[in-house]
Amino acid sequence: MLDEIIINQLQAIVGKDNVLIGSVNLTTYSYDATADVPHAMPEVIVMPTSTAQVRKVVQLAAWKSIAIYPRGAGTNLSGGTIPLDHGIVLSLQKMDQILEIDAENLTATVQPGVVIQDLNNAIAPFGLMYPPDPGTVTTATMGGSVAENSGGLRGLKYGVTKHYVMGMEVVLANGNSVRFGGKTVKNVTAYDFSSLFVGSEGTLGIIVEITCKLLPEPKFHKAMLAAFNIMEDAGKTVSDIIKAQVIPATLEIMDNMTIRTVEDFAHVGLPTDAAALLLIEVDGMAELVVAQEADAVIRIVEENHGSLHIANSDEERDNLWSARRAALPALASLNNTVVLEDATVPRSRVTDMLLALAEIGRKYRLVLGTFGHAGDGNLHPTILADKYNADEMSRVHQAVEEIFATALKLGGTLSGEHGIGIAKMRFLGNEIGDSGLELMQAIKNALDPTHMLNPGKLIPREEKTHVSR
Ligand SMILES: Cc1cc2nc3c(=O)[nH]c(=O)nc-3n(C[C@H](O)[C@H](O)[C@H](O)COP(=O)(O)OP(=O)(O)OC[C@H]3O[C@@H](n4cnc5c(N)ncnc54)[C@H](O)[C@@H]3O)c2cc1C
Repeated sequence: MLDEIIINQLQAIVGKDNVLIGSVNLTTYSYDATADVPHAMPEVIVMPTSTAQVRKVVQLAAWKSIAIYPRGAGTNLSGGTIPLDHGIVLSLQKMDQILEIDAENLTATVQPGVVIQDLNNAIAPFGLMYPPDPGTVTTATMGGSVAENSGGLRGLKYGVTKHYVMGMEVVLANGNSVRFGGKTVKNVTAYDFSSLFVGSEGTLGIIVEITCKLLPEPKFHKAMLAAFNIMEDAGKTVSDIIKAQVIPATLEIMDNMTIRTVEDFAHVGLPTDAAALLLIEVDGMAELVVAQEADAVIRIVEENHGSLHIANSDEERDNLWSARRAALPALASLNNTVVLEDATVPRSRVTDMLLALAEIGRKYRLVLGTFGHAGDGNLHPTILADKYNADEMSRVHQAVEEIFATALKLGGTLSGEHGIGIAKMRFLGNEIGDSGLELMQAIKNALDPTHMLNPGKLIPREEKTHVSR
């Protein structure tokens, strides 16, 4: 634990109630939603309520050389908030004010601890929405989501977090705060610093305020479920829909293993003998356009031998969505360890990736189900394993390695939305090469020369590509 003088200084900055110590608290912040990464105990949890407090905490930590681990809701899936070097977990959850909703400029300005759904609830009366919607939309914070550049179910049509961040205020490792961007649609002043901090995973600065873009909420929706007997037909349907220039809001896939598990878990009436299901939703402002897009999707599904169930009421739509939302909890109920990856490939390679994943599951004798955002090529192969079975865990690690090698071979990426964190750090060089790693190091060294912000994440520390788990 940190010595008493430092604890007293932290209490003086944020108030006694906002400094947590004691083994129960420290244990609670020693892990996040990620399976199969090391856990580590922080020395203290500090919960600032203002930017001024964040600055003072960072200044104190810099002076005393203490690592700082920024944290939102801890729902990330790459080990991003685990305090590997102990030190301070800086929880931003109490900075949870929506500072402004500007319906004229279609922007909102929020503190980092605002939960994404709370922002959506606040802007709904203005007929507006903030589209990025990770599966954790009701718990994840805006700060964590910006730092992870998170995506979600609507990414295909509406893009991901980086497409909605217009500006921000950041506290840097030296304790100074700086603002970039703002409310103007166009802003080409200086480097594009907002983009640099989106997806920086807490390694370059603490995000203390975010200005984001809002969109008008679509008025019409049509949701449907398509079942296929062979995986290739489902994959071809995905690329045919895009080829027909229809961009659904949602185009999600579940493989047979996931379908059966969801049905056992949630009893929503899914066809358990289907090789794959697609959940497709088109939306828009004009009823006729939405109907035309739905017709095009129906035609393509039929051409690809799929059988369709169309939701004709809000209740039926909710039922379809609950099937998709149940995918991860259902799979998670099967064993004590859920390794959820987010290997992502170009849309045209979705079928190849799905077939390769099934083969990897067979090869390593693992329970592997895949669901995910097929429309943007972002698949979530999910391995269920027993962490107490060393042989099985070794096969899990080999399978994960092969999954990422396959994604890269198919022209894809290590992460479509979950970030690199600890979990994928050792593969980073395989995607961005040595020059890419050197550039990352140079930026880290320039902004955080003593590596006090989220050390051990995203950027390999000693060896470039061989950081062990
Ligand atoms: C069941 C489940 C479903 C999920 N579905 C999706 C999905 O569909 N799409 C998706 O993209 N993700 C998904 N996720 C992952 C996760 O929910 C997102 O990454 C989310 O945006 C993280 O937000 P958080 O507030 O929990 O951040 P945390 O997990 O607390 O932090 C994430 C990272 O951001 C850093 N950080 C946090 N706050 C700040 C700040 N203010 N300043 C600087 N750095 C900060 C942390 O250090 C860490 O590196 C899912 C997770 C689970 C468990």
